[in-house]
Formats: sequence, C-alpha cells, structure tokens
Amino acid sequence: MIFPPQAAEGIKNVYGIPMKKPRALIFRCGSCGHEEPKWLGRCPECGEWNTLTETAVSPGSHAGRALSGGTAPRSLPLSAVDPQEEKRVGSGIEELDRVLGGGIMKRSAVLLGGEPGIGKSTLLIQTAAAAGTRGRILYISGEESAGQVRMRADRLGLTANLDRIEMCCTGRLEDILVILEAVKPVLIMADSAQTLHTDEAGPAPGTINQMKFCAYELISWVKDHDAALFLSAHVTKDGLISGPKTLEHMVDTVLYFEQGGNPGGGGYDGDCRFLRAVKNRFGSVDEIGIFTMGEGGLQVVADPSLLFLVRREGAVPPGIATASVMEGSRSLLVELQALTVPAKGSVSRVFSGSIETNRVSRVAASLEKHLGLRLSDQDLYVNVAGGIRINEVGVELALAAALYSARTGIALPAATAIAGELSLAGEVLPVRKKAAREKTAGGLGFSLFTAGDLKGAALALFGSVKLG
Ligand SMILES: [Zn+2]
Repeated sequence: MIFPPQAAEGIKNVYGIPMKKPRALIFRCGSCGHEEPKWLGRCPECGEWNTLTETAVSPGSHAGRALSGGTAPRSLPLSAVDPQEEKRVGSGIEELDRVLGGGIMKRSAVLLGGEPGIGKSTLLIQTAAAAGTRGRILYISGEESAGQVRMRADRLGLTANLDRIEMCCTGRLEDILVILEAVKPVLIMADSAQTLHTDEAGPAPGTINQMKFCAYELISWVKDHDAALFLSAHVTKDGLISGPKTLEHMVDTVLYFEQGGNPGGGGYDGDCRFLRAVKNRFGSVDEIGIFTMGEGGLQVVADPSLLFLVRREGAVPPGIATASVMEGSRSLLVELQALTVPAKGSVSRVFSGSIETNRVSRVAASLEKHLGLRLSDQDLYVNVAGGIRINEVGVELALAAALYSARTGIALPAATAIAGELSLAGEVLPVRKKAAREKTAGGLGFSLFTAGDLKGAALALFGSVKLG
C-alpha cells in the first residue's frame, strides 16, 4: 500500500497521487494582493492586519481551476480569460533572478539539482537572507542541524532577514505540514528532497515514492498559499539518481548547479560555478548564472568575461584563441586552448570537457578537408578557461583557429575575438547578435573577427594557408 486508502477513492492527479478536496473560496490581501485559502487576521506577505477579504474567483484564474474539480467541466473563450499577472519577488541575487527569468515566481516550485558539496545549501541560505519578500521564510533542513545552518549564515556574513527565517530540522512531511500552517511562510527552502519522508508512503525514507509524495504535498501547499518553494536535490556526476529526474516533471523550474574551473583572470577568489535552467515554465532555458565560490560564499561576478580570459604579460602562445559566444542574452569573451600531439594509438582521440567532442571532431575534419591540415593522425586536447561549458555554434570558427594555431605553431593576432559557425562545406555562417558581440569585444579592447569561409579566415588570421 503506497497511498492512504481513504484518499485513493478521490480524484488522482497525473502522478497517481490523490488530490485534495477543491476549495470554495479564496481570500486576497487588499494591500499586497497575496492570496490565502483561509481567512487570516494578518497577511503573511506584507504583515498588514485585517486586509484579507473574500474574493470571487473567475473560472480562468488559478484558484478558479482549483474549483473546477467540484463542478461540471467547462471551457471559456480565450478572450474572456483574465491574464494571470506575473507575481515575482526578487531573490536578491542578480544571477539567480536572471536564470529564473526575472525573479522568484509566486506559486512556483524550483528544483535545484547538483552534486553534493557544490553549494546548493549555500545558495539557499544566501537567497533566504537576500530575498525581497516581507513575509516569513521557512528553511527546512533535513541534513544539517539548525546550529550548523546558523554557523554557515554567520560565516557568510548574512545578517538580513535572520529574524524572519524560521528554521526547522526535520524531513518528516507530517511535521513540516504542521509547521507550514503555523508559520505561513511565503518562501520555503527544503534542503534536500532526499531527506523528505512520510508515514503514508511506505516505510523507507529516500525512495522515489516517498520523495514524490512529499514533493507533491509541498508543491500543493505553495500553490494554495501564494508562496514559492525551492527544493534541493543531490545528483551524481552522471545524473544517476532517478529520484530528482522524476521530480523534474512535477516542478515549474529545474536549475542545475555546475562546477567550473579556476577563473582565468580578474583576481577572483575561489572557483567558478554555473547555474543553468534545464526547464523553466516562466522564462528561457538559455540563461546562465555565473558565480565564484570562495570564503565569502557564492559571489556574483560583475564582469564575467574576466573569468574566461587569461591575462598575459608577453605574447599569446600558439593554440590560444579568443571566442565571442552568446550565453542566453549575455555576450562573453572566452579563451580557448588547443593542443595537438601525434596520436598514441592508431585512432586519434579528442579530449574536451567544455565543448562537445563531436563538435571538436567535426571542426577538425573541416580543417583537414578544406585547408588540407592533417589532424586525423593527432590527439586533440581542448580546454576553455574557467571551465565554462560552451554549447553555442558561434564558437566553431574560434575552435578552428585554435586547432590550426596549435597544429601549425603560428600564434593568432593579439586582441582578436572570433565568432562564426562552420558549415560542412567550409563556409563560415554569420552569427546572431553581432552588435552585442562587437560591443563586448570592444569594451575589453578586442576587435571582432568573422569571415566568409575557412580559407579566407586562415589567410586573414595567419597570413598564409599552410597545406599538408
Ligand atoms: Zn498583504
């Protein structure tokens, strides 16, 4: 028996989990617009007294949908639907707001995945302390004691919101639901999904059923109470734990925290961390949050290009190229480093962590075919300064230049940022957002280089086309 028998007779949602009885009324705060399923004397969001009033719910609204379970199903013309106004609160962390699509959406659930130790708890407590909400914040810690969380907050120098962050150290859903009703938080940090358990979904904590059941209850709670939920989840290097993958379907937004390398320059403390959205119902999935993680916790990087460019005293050695890439709406300059050595085995191999090995192989094949530069007998190594993963096609011409430079021993001209996508025919296709790229390059003292084809690019950048 997985679910309680009395609930099993009711309506089930798509996960097979029984849904609660639909509520009949909502109460909206006249001062800030916060909504509650029950009347309260004091608004949990803005703290005003006697501002909650009973409100008629239109069938198109969120609350109206919740009512439809009890009445006959109906539709209505799209023109008659009230547009659901976006209610967001700032997380207080610019890079997190960017990845979320402009702040924390009310009634949303965010899953924050990442390897153990990458900084998920640090991001959650920093966000709790910086969030621009006036209501209370509940921090549910299933792994660390309240004292440990307090020590971390002190170590990070967090002082804001400490009176409004309520700590509870349990993973038991029944206890959490009691605390939620007592605290009425507007923001919930649950650290982590793996520690959530309930008496109602089988005996062993940490099973997928336990996690699903608890996550569903927490998500329902925030949707009913105009709050927002952050739920952290441990993921192994190869994403092997199936639990968080299941949770991805239940939440509105899925963020993954990734480990980068050491910053290339800029004098930053600590190593790079990247926050990426892999699912976002309320924003794009292209945006990337860039942080460094050091003594002071996660730091937002003011000028990220400095992380991915290596400052040098003398000339740039062969094998180094500067790429102009777009990560979401942001234009970055990134140093690529290539090394070619005669293949040890009979098959040439590609070693590349930050750019897909398939892309490296294809660019190498283009160089061999169209410029006659022999790379098929070489092992190819490609690095990106700062360890940032690059998925943009516009990196290909710079990658070709780095490989060409590494193989021929001719260095690239200084202060040249390269952008272009390669076709299999050896053409260089124009990149999007050229003006933004030029602006970024210019600001850092670089000129933007792009060309019509591979041969023209080699002539312009290296002065000659070296054959064979
Ligand atoms: Zn209010």
